[in-house]
Amino acid sequence: MGSLTEIAPGVLVATSSFALTTTTVVVGPEGGCLLIDPGVTVAELAGLAAELGRRDLVPAVAWSTHPHWDHVLWSRELGDAPRYAAPAAVMIAGTERAGILDGVQAGAPGHDLSLVGQLMALDASAIPWGGPAAQLIVHDGHAPGHGAVFLPEAGVLVAGDMCSDVEIPLLDTVATDPLGDYRTGLERLAAVPGVRQVVPGHGHIGDADAFRRRLAADSAYLDAVADGKPFGDPRLTTESPRWMRVTHEEQVRYFQR
Ligand SMILES: [Zn+2]
Repeated sequence: MGSLTEIAPGVLVATSSFALTTTTVVVGPEGGCLLIDPGVTVAELAGLAAELGRRDLVPAVAWSTHPHWDHVLWSRELGDAPRYAAPAAVMIAGTERAGILDGVQAGAPGHDLSLVGQLMALDASAIPWGGPAAQLIVHDGHAPGHGAVFLPEAGVLVAGDMCSDVEIPLLDTVATDPLGDYRTGLERLAAVPGVRQVVPGHGHIGDADAFRRRLAADSAYLDAVADGKPFGDPRLTTESPRWMRVTHEEQVRYFQR
């Protein structure tokens, strides 16, 4: 029994009870692993640490895709591996720390707050470690310094909070050009060669066709919002969480100004 599922050789994904948030583990040499966005609840992080232990894996390095509270979590049991994020993300994790801690307290109470968001800036095209190549695709869509990870050997794109089957594009509306930033992000992801599976930050893993469909759905959403038009996105239904419908209405209003 375990919550980690192997989606490709040496690539394991767990899905949280909180907003279908994904945690990705990449197996490296000598029992080291790369841990991406470990989350979300205290119990889930404890379970993750225990399961890594059962698999004789120890985090050797960690990566946070972006500076939102549910992507910068950690626990003592996961050890003291270096935790990296893109430089712009690390800056926001510092300046927005109070809001991030509020998010943790509200969404997943009980974490050791001293471990939240303790990230080091990594300005590189790949994560430095001894395991399979982990290329970084950094942009400012959704959040500043949003860094997706592409594992070329496995053909897996860990997309962060983009390319979701359950969430609409969530724009960083405090940025100067939120739509441009998001479009740039989508273009960079679309240009990655050899994506056979996509792991969204929230939602379900998709194959190459699903990846293309999600990129197209995200672009169509941005086009409609840019025109200030309400849009019948299939991910927005009466079943969608209230926060997402509210955010959608805010995004439409934002571009109507
Ligand atoms: Zn996010």
